[in-house]
Amino acid sequence: MKKIAIIGGGIVGSTAAYYLSQFDKKNEIQVTMYDDGVGQATKAAAGIISPWLSKRRNKKWYNLARDGATLLAKIAKNTNMNKDIYNQCGTIITRDSPKKLNELYQKAIERNKETKTIGDVYQLDAEEVKYQIPLLSKSVPGILVTGGARIDGAKFAEHLKDIAKLKNLTIINKKVSINNRGKIQLGDDELAYDNIVVATGAWMRNTLDNLPLKVDIRPQKGQLIEISVNDLEQNKKNMPVLMPEGERDFIPFNDGRLIVGATHENDQGFDLKPSNEVIDDLLASANRLVSGLNQDNLIKIKVGTRAYTSDFAPFFGSIPNYSNIFVGGGLGSSGLTTGPLIGKLLANLILKNKKIDLEQYRKPINNYIQSNL
Ligand SMILES: Cc1cc2nc3c(=O)[nH]c(=O)nc-3n(C[C@H](O)[C@H](O)[C@H](O)COP(=O)(O)OP(=O)(O)OC[C@H]3O[C@@H](n4cnc5c(N)ncnc54)[C@H](O)[C@@H]3O)c2cc1C
Repeated sequence: MKKIAIIGGGIVGSTAAYYLSQFDKKNEIQVTMYDDGVGQATKAAAGIISPWLSKRRNKKWYNLARDGATLLAKIAKNTNMNKDIYNQCGTIITRDSPKKLNELYQKAIERNKETKTIGDVYQLDAEEVKYQIPLLSKSVPGILVTGGARIDGAKFAEHLKDIAKLKNLTIINKKVSINNRGKIQLGDDELAYDNIVVATGAWMRNTLDNLPLKVDIRPQKGQLIEISVNDLEQNKKNMPVLMPEGERDFIPFNDGRLIVGATHENDQGFDLKPSNEVIDDLLASANRLVSGLNQDNLIKIKVGTRAYTSDFAPFFGSIPNYSNIFVGGGLGSSGLTTGPLIGKLLANLILKNKKIDLEQYRKPINNYIQSNL
């Protein structure tokens, strides 16, 4: 029996657990997940899956995000996720100038040739954008990609863990560390596993603290608001996500909720307190698109901690000098999109499954985790 521990039950840990359960055809694997559930980015995330028109130039990141978006659609289908968890509702990305809009359209057409998941691509005028999202009081032209999706990160992770629990996963809601012998330490107990997956997001540096390693991860606070737009009668259809130029992202639900966010706060460490100025700022952004919103419309505020590396790229694989310890981290602001593929690749690596060209997705792990010895 192979014993595997996963530390962290966000999207990376949950997807790794899901694949470790699916790959365990001969009942030879036991998986234990440790998760303390504090400040998980996956629970706080906005949930936008739409990487194709990103301004980022990192090709490896794009490959990971593009194939991640495709994998998400596949997991949703194979595991019968309902639309509360994964909804391919489309994404509209706006641009103020016709030149920039046309450039975006050309990019979408190009990307459409290399991935089907992007779906159909349409150039919309301001009226057509408003037709797609009737609750907008102000709209500008945009590009609609029908393959864009929104997911509920918390429900997505729970759904996959529930499936894995039916096979070989046990979850222990406790904080653990890795001791200086590279073993899991739970209170006074040292626990032995064949492999350990460290999927602790922004906390990865703390998790690996007892090992002679230098880990390039920093936390970034993110806040978003959920507001009620119930009184707006037009709000009846399955609306696309809106990524408006110069404003916060805008995620409308057909039950009268609207998510607006998120912030990127680099100087707040692991702080999880909502801040009034940020709420005002997010409400103001929402008000520029839907008039008449105020504090009474506020349903809740979500706060989470993203993990960033110095070059903003995620990393995954086994770590220097500890070949049985695997990590997946530094996912930044697109981790719901890249996380499931990283989880799957980690499961493949641990089980030494079929050979996959990993270098299309990642830079060397030494760029992010170095031995101090
Ligand atoms: C406000 C916000 C909005 C976002 N919006 C989007 C979006 O629209 N689209 C997108 O693609 N991405 C988005 N992201 C990014 C995405 O949410 C993250 O990149 C992704 O969820 C990271 O997943 P993870 O599994 O690496 O880490 P996490 O989800 O943070 O999970 C790590 C887990 O490890 C646990 N843990 C840590 N240390 C220990 C320990 N010692 N012992 C036990 N457990 C431990 C934590 O409690 C946590 O549960 C957003 C993030 C935020 C914060």
